[in-house]
Amino acid sequence: MKNGVVIVGAGHAGVQAAASLREDGYDGPVILVGDEDELPYHKPPLSKTFIKDAEAKPQPLRGEAFYTGSAIDYRPGVRIDRIDTRRRSLDIAGGGALAFDHLILATGSRPRTLPLPGADLSGVLSLRSLADARLIRDLSAQSDEIVILGGGFIGLEIAATLRATGRTVTVVEAVDRLLGRAVAPVVASHVRQRLEATGVRILTGTSIARLDGENGHVTAAITSSGERLPARMVIVGIGAMPNVELAQSAGLGIANGIRVDHQMRTSMPEILAIGDAASYRHWFTGGDVRLESVQNATDQARLAARTISGHTDAYSAVPWFWSDIGDMKLQMVGLTAGGDSHVVLGDLPENKFSIYHYAGDRLLGIESVNRPGDHMLGRKMLGAGFSPTQETVAEGPDGLKAALAAFQQDEPARAAG
Ligand code: FAD
Ligand code: NAP
Repeated sequence: MKNGVVIVGAGHAGVQAAASLREDGYDGPVILVGDEDELPYHKPPLSKTFIKDAEAKPQPLRGEAFYTGSAIDYRPGVRIDRIDTRRRSLDIAGGGALAFDHLILATGSRPRTLPLPGADLSGVLSLRSLADARLIRDLSAQSDEIVILGGGFIGLEIAATLRATGRTVTVVEAVDRLLGRAVAPVVASHVRQRLEATGVRILTGTSIARLDGENGHVTAAITSSGERLPARMVIVGIGAMPNVELAQSAGLGIANGIRVDHQMRTSMPEILAIGDAASYRHWFTGGDVRLESVQNATDQARLAARTISGHTDAYSAVPWFWSDIGDMKLQMVGLTAGGDSHVVLGDLPENKFSIYHYAGDRLLGIESVNRPGDHMLGRKMLGAGFSPTQETVAEGPDGLKAALAAFQQDEPARAAG
């Protein structure tokens, strides 16, 4: 334990891993390095509130006193260039080295770029970090017309946020629907209708052929059908790529992310990987996934700390995430790919409903809009391994709560066989 644990990446996953090591009683050195010059901060508010409010301050994940008080050696502005697996040591960009007994890679992901004529003009931005959010906030204050490429979470959250400040916003999505990777078509078309009602223009099934500019600054996005969309700012939100390069050059296993086992260990057991950068076989579906959410980052971080402290439990967290798009709080629990039927509770026109997705008679997950109670109950049901029948779902929350209670009461009998 002389060199302790080094954590590379001070985002949601890295900071939680440091905190969990101390909570679990780990008493060796804990060094947290991150290449940003900030106190680690919450990312979700960046697209939802920060970019529209000139006075907004970043929200720190933990106060400064936490790091000193917990003997966590946080080193901002430090980029790691290389892992020497034989010496168990890291090369710091610009010089220096850091030795480790255990290494946690929490390197996150970065925005996918668009190989498009004009993509290098100024005013073409993407949003991942606080530094990006500051640029978007400053430029949007001087930009009436904004074009957003990508109809995923980031694009739609930004569209709603900037539209609320009176900007003219157009979203351009290449496929024929929004939120293709994230939610069912019924939820996606609901989101579209409500965003359009606020004045956001949404073009689906549309690609951008090029970006035009004057004096080096973007002035318009030109669609493949030749329409000119005037823009002083273009935001590219077309997905994220895992930061795997450090791991890859060290010879660790990679498969759409740094490959980890059920205890977050990479192909070299003293090196673990967590968060957006890690891919693994999910206990819930049996399929390989790489999830990009705060829940995934923090729950994997807690487990990585336990693994280092000698525990052998396997990852078993129920996946969930959320998005705030204008007046819609979307909350998703479970993983719904592969569903073949669904039940709707609530009322779409009232903007309050939940979709319960099934594969056969197994509940895969729930997507809720402004029904947080359904989401919380869903987390309890999936966490308990309880799959209500579709008839019970149709009875509503009271019927579901009663059925869950009965299921939990029978647990000892089931366990006894
Ligand atoms: P990150 O938080 O990206 O942290 C990785 C850190 O490692 C970064 O600081 C990076 O610069 C650093 N790093 C990388 N390589 C190196 C290196 N070689 N040396 C040193 N440092 C390095 N999820 C939700 O569930 N709900 C939401 O509402 C939501 N909203 C979001 C809004 C925005 C604008 C964004 C960008 C993301 C949002 N997410 C949301 C996703 C969520 O923030 C991510 O899933 C989460 O941040 C992943 O945590 P991470 O620690 O794996 O990666
Ligand atoms: P995303 O959810 O993968 O969405 C990207 C969208 O852009 C997809 O709909 C994609 O369609 C589309 N697209 C791809 N290529 C395109 C092109 N050339 N032109 C137009 N559209 C194109 O990723 P994201 O919204 O960019 O988010 C980036 C990261 O931030 C992710 O890690 C995400 O989890 C995170 N984030 C999360 C939240 C949240 O959870 N609430 C909020 C903001 C950000 P295809 O699927 O067809 O490729």
